[in-house]
Amino acid sequence: MSQTKGLSGQIQVNLSAVRHNWQQLKKIFSGADCGAVVKADAYGLGYAPVVQALFSEGCRSFFVATIKEALAVRKLLADRARIYVLQGCAEGQEQKFIDHHIAPVIISTAMLTRWCKTDGAKDAPCAVKVDTGMNRLGLTLDEMQEWFSQGERWQGVKPDLILSHIACGDLPDHPLNALQLERFCEISKLAGECFPEIKSSFVNSAALFLGEAWHFDVARPGIAIYGGTEGLPKSADIRAVVTLSLPVLQVREVPAGEWIGYGGSFQAERDMTIAVVMGGYGDGVLRILGNRGSGYYAGHSLPMVGRVSMDSCAFDLTDVPQGERPGAGHYLEVLGSNCSVSEQAAAAETISYELLTRLGGRFEKRYVELT
Ligand SMILES: *Cc1c(COP(=O)(O)O)cnc(C)c1O
Repeated sequence: MSQTKGLSGQIQVNLSAVRHNWQQLKKIFSGADCGAVVKADAYGLGYAPVVQALFSEGCRSFFVATIKEALAVRKLLADRARIYVLQGCAEGQEQKFIDHHIAPVIISTAMLTRWCKTDGAKDAPCAVKVDTGMNRLGLTLDEMQEWFSQGERWQGVKPDLILSHIACGDLPDHPLNALQLERFCEISKLAGECFPEIKSSFVNSAALFLGEAWHFDVARPGIAIYGGTEGLPKSADIRAVVTLSLPVLQVREVPAGEWIGYGGSFQAERDMTIAVVMGGYGDGVLRILGNRGSGYYAGHSLPMVGRVSMDSCAFDLTDVPQGERPGAGHYLEVLGSNCSVSEQAAAAETISYELLTRLGGRFEKRYVELT
């Protein structure tokens, strides 16, 4: 048994795949402006290199969740792109949005009333969100109709975008899709009568594949840019962006009858060889992956065995021929082109979004351009 020091799990972010994925989505999109959602630090991948890569591909509309995220993107891009804050503008923050030319996505009548009363809002960008059936954020259809039928209420404020979010874009057969579309068509028509310049935005990644009727003017894909493929048709040409590699700390022989890890959740039925790697739930290797997830090494899929610890987890090497096994210091792939983020997420009973945004700060992160 050998042990290695000074190793670290490695996250490699392939910016060429980010570019490729965004271009694929743009190609499918029939509207004029394919934007990108870069909230939560670009789904955990690091907003700065991702935003710069997307900007260089021609992306000019960026969506984030908070003003803090927006200010960071604004600093990076200066005045060269539109930035929308999906959670809108909290009371007292109005001036910050106006000063930095950041558009709040207004999600309630209270927020809208406040915004319209703000000095300087008349000439500032803003978007409004209408809830068409998800019942999460946005003005109700009735509220929105009321505002659009009373132009004077806006006090000179001119929203440049009306948007709504689709709840079931990844479930093409769900009846809510058609219902949301019908409602959004109606309300965006009304919006256009009130504000002839206003654009409409409806689709996220999965909803782009529902068909052109859903597209409207501005698309807001997120996860597919980052390699998540949940709900996408098999034909979608989406590449893996993130490779997570964990270094082997120790290879051990486990005699039949012995248990592996906390709680003795795995008992060896035969003599086994396992690799204990650096990386555990403290790093975002979700605990539920214990005895369910898998890794990959040189053509071999390696089942996870035992529970995931805070800093380590274990993989079964028993079925890998002797000469082909990794040793201490070698890296196992846990996410990547051989271990897709969506499959690993499914093994963890979650979605790629959660897996990616949880990847921890102890890993070394490298940005590469691999075509
Ligand atoms: C996160 C988010 C998106 C992006 O969705 P994906 O499924 O990641 O493509 C789009 N619109 C809104 C309002 C969001 O919150």
